[in-house]
Amino acid sequence: MKIAIDLGHGCTNDGGAVGVRREEDLINEVGKLLIDKLQQLGHTVIRCRPSWASSDTNSLWQRCNTANVNQADIFVSLHFNAYNGKAYGTETFAISEAGKRIATSVQQEICKLGFYNRGVKTTRYYVLRNTTMPAILIEGAFCDSARDMKLFDAEKMADAIVRGLV
Ligand SMILES: [Zn+2]
Repeated sequence: MKIAIDLGHGCTNDGGAVGVRREEDLINEVGKLLIDKLQQLGHTVIRCRPSWASSDTNSLWQRCNTANVNQADIFVSLHFNAYNGKAYGTETFAISEAGKRIATSVQQEICKLGFYNRGVKTTRYYVLRNTTMPAILIEGAFCDSARDMKLFDAEKMADAIVRGLV
């Protein structure tokens, strides 16, 4: 499979949430492992995070465009949530039916690690609306939740996402 991996934020004008831990650090830790593991299984990974963007919207546009022009089979955007320090758990977003099937599979695998299952949701995020292939956006856990951050292990989370995707 040709898998577009969008590591959320992490470029000019597009920073992530900050909680007990920084969203960007979690994304980078899990993302590196995720990309390595998918490549080891023989999949082609398209890296969608731009190195520079003029605005948040431009950053999101570049991510979608990279996946679209490379004709990826699926698009996976990786994020971590933050709310009020009390919310916890995992949620995965998708719009299309094909996307929802992949989202459900990934969601189940992450929740097997002990994260609370907040469900698969259909919020119409930019990257889900503007990609031409089945697309999902993972909010792996809450980076401002002590409960989630105690449970968090980058290796286990990357393995769970791989199992959910392939
Ligand atoms: Zn994010």
